[in-house]
Amino acid sequence: MITMQKTEKIAVVGAGIMGLTLAYRLLNQGYDVSIFEKDDRTGGMSASFDFDGLYIERYYHFLCKPDVPVFQLLKELDIDHLLTWKETKMGFFYEGKLYPWGNPLALLKFPGLGLLSKIRFGLQVFLSIKHNKWDKLDRMTAVEWIKRFEGEKAYRVLWDSLLRLKFHNFREELSAAWVWSRLRRVGVSRKNMFHETLAYLDGGVAKLLATLETKIKQMGGEIFLGSEVTHIYIGMPENKITGVKVNGQEIRFDKVITTIPLPYIPQLAPGLPGDVIERYKRLDNIGVVCVILKLSHPLTENFWLNISDSVIDLPGVIEFSNLRPFEEKIVYFPFYLHRAHPWFSEPDAHFIEMVKRYCKRINKEFTGDWVLAERVHRYECAQPVCPPGFLDMLPPVKTEVEGLYIVDTSYYYPEDRSLSESIRAAQELAKELGFPVSPVNNA
Ligand SMILES: Cc1cc2nc3c(=O)[nH]c(=O)nc-3n(C[C@H](O)[C@H](O)[C@H](O)COP(=O)(O)OP(=O)(O)OC[C@H]3O[C@@H](n4cnc5c(N)ncnc54)[C@H](O)[C@@H]3O)c2cc1C
Repeated sequence: MITMQKTEKIAVVGAGIMGLTLAYRLLNQGYDVSIFEKDDRTGGMSASFDFDGLYIERYYHFLCKPDVPVFQLLKELDIDHLLTWKETKMGFFYEGKLYPWGNPLALLKFPGLGLLSKIRFGLQVFLSIKHNKWDKLDRMTAVEWIKRFEGEKAYRVLWDSLLRLKFHNFREELSAAWVWSRLRRVGVSRKNMFHETLAYLDGGVAKLLATLETKIKQMGGEIFLGSEVTHIYIGMPENKITGVKVNGQEIRFDKVITTIPLPYIPQLAPGLPGDVIERYKRLDNIGVVCVILKLSHPLTENFWLNISDSVIDLPGVIEFSNLRPFEEKIVYFPFYLHRAHPWFSEPDAHFIEMVKRYCKRINKEFTGDWVLAERVHRYECAQPVCPPGFLDMLPPVKTEVEGLYIVDTSYYYPEDRSLSESIRAAQELAKELGFPVSPVNNA
């Protein structure tokens, strides 16, 4: 009989979907794995909360056809029956009026652009869906690419407020490859030119997280919640991992893999060589303050509403109940803000107040009575800022310190952050780590 010896102790820092998938795979490979999570629950960006009796994601989560790693993992965990596809609608709220969006007919009817701009925009979306190669796009900024392809007018009408409200001062730096991959992901998910299909998990991402947690525990892995890792110890002169500090206590490990956002690394691992620390310091992230409302009436019929409006400081509104049905209507309002932006620390009431005004502007019939519940969530590092050549800016995942691996959502550039890509990244890293020891033959 072949059994694995559990000799190598691994600490996984962060119990988002990446940390959990990584732990699950490493346990399968025979490692001894402990996961440390600072939050009181697993999931990170994909975590859920009790919204007055409805257990739902803090931030909207949908799936697209290219999200194959999620589908494969769901199948492997025997929960693929949870995956539910639905035809959805997109809208565009442009200067105080709501228009249908997301198909050729809607584009033709849209009054904000001339025919030539529409053709140029349509062509850019079409070619983005058809093309797989992104190396040329990785050498130019998104603003440059869009203006060159669609012209100044289309940029101003369709993109300016979207990029400004998502990336603020960083928008001029954003890579064209990142925008291309976003256009492509949703575009590929369409049933045809006229119909968009997206998916959700019945019971939410929480079901996937809970199943992974159960498997991890069954295989002997340990998940420590409310356990922030505050220091990574590097032994010298060997330049080798010795352990982590959690809740004031030093715990010894042979390997440490962090899946937390890269901007936290300089503080966590000050023992890394100075030039590497400097590379992490040059990376930045946008945070999010996301309002979620439970309403008695629908706001619109759209799942996704793009916004370009002089009054509304949001790039879009996601009416999640138009994808996943609930008794009441669920709408997310994401304010993308850098954590140092003065708005980021405004009280919840400030954002809720703004959002209610926006609801009235989007749907004149809206009244405060429609609001059955309201909540605000914040995530400091919700979206890496990806300039052209971003991958070359990132230090290697396998660091110079023996046994220390540092990965996060940045490493799947130009793909946008997603459950699928975090799962893929975790699986690739687990594969690279291979078996810790050669199997022992007990026969
Ligand atoms: C607003 C929003 C909408 C999104 N919509 C979608 C969508 O529709 N579809 C989709 O597929 N994806 C979506 N995503 C992206 C998706 O949620 C992420 O790509 C994915 O969850 C990232 O998982 P991760 O484990 O890589 O990182 P994270 O979820 O960031 O996990 C990192 C974990 O590390 C923990 N941590 C941080 N510091 C420490 C420390 N010092 N010690 C211990 N733990 C620590 C954090 O608490 C967190 O749990 C969305 C994200 C956001 C923010």
